[in-house]
Amino acid sequence: MSDPPSPIAGLSLAVDFVNTVWVTGGRTVDVMESRHGLRQWLDAVAERLAQDGCRDTLRASESLRRALLEDRQQIRSLFDAATGWGHISTGTLRHINECSRSAPIWMEIADDQTNGMRVRRRRAAGADSDIRAALCDDALQVVATGQVRSCGGPGCIGYFVPAPRQQFCSPQCSTRARVTRHRAAAKSGQDRPQTGRRSTAPD
Ligand SMILES: [Zn+2]
Repeated sequence: MSDPPSPIAGLSLAVDFVNTVWVTGGRTVDVMESRHGLRQWLDAVAERLAQDGCRDTLRASESLRRALLEDRQQIRSLFDAATGWGHISTGTLRHINECSRSAPIWMEIADDQTNGMRVRRRRAAGADSDIRAALCDDALQVVATGQVRSCGGPGCIGYFVPAPRQQFCSPQCSTRARVTRHRAAAKSGQDRPQTGRRSTAPD
């Protein structure tokens, strides 16, 4: 059986990272539950990691997988707090700050006859630290700019960076929310003679 596709929207590395776990049909799917899944995800975002200063994204070791599972949980806690769904603990703050600090970034210029002058970001703490720092840095960036939103779709645990008028992480969540609203409205209509209650389903 092939793996389900990871929901990679391409708008924020950190948002795509936390969305490597999602719920479908009441079942939790986690890209990071295997090294194979991690390898596929790293391949999918390799160019973006390289743009963020990571030179080596080829390894998908078990130690990196375990470290990223912890990072993902901490970034989800950060996003929960940033979107008003939770309190951020000192442990989460310390974890993300230390992760970011472990692989500092700098700018570097190179000049060669083939490509001319090129300016790029660099990190050099080692492949695993570079990747983890790039993800934590991006998480802090989307929180600082107020871009991240939690999806209000029924049962959804996704996050997204909204386009204008976008209310859900995906068309599927938008459809599910619309169906849920219609069912709630229909039930409210049936109940009204007995209870007089109106639907309180959110828009
Ligand atoms: Zn959603």
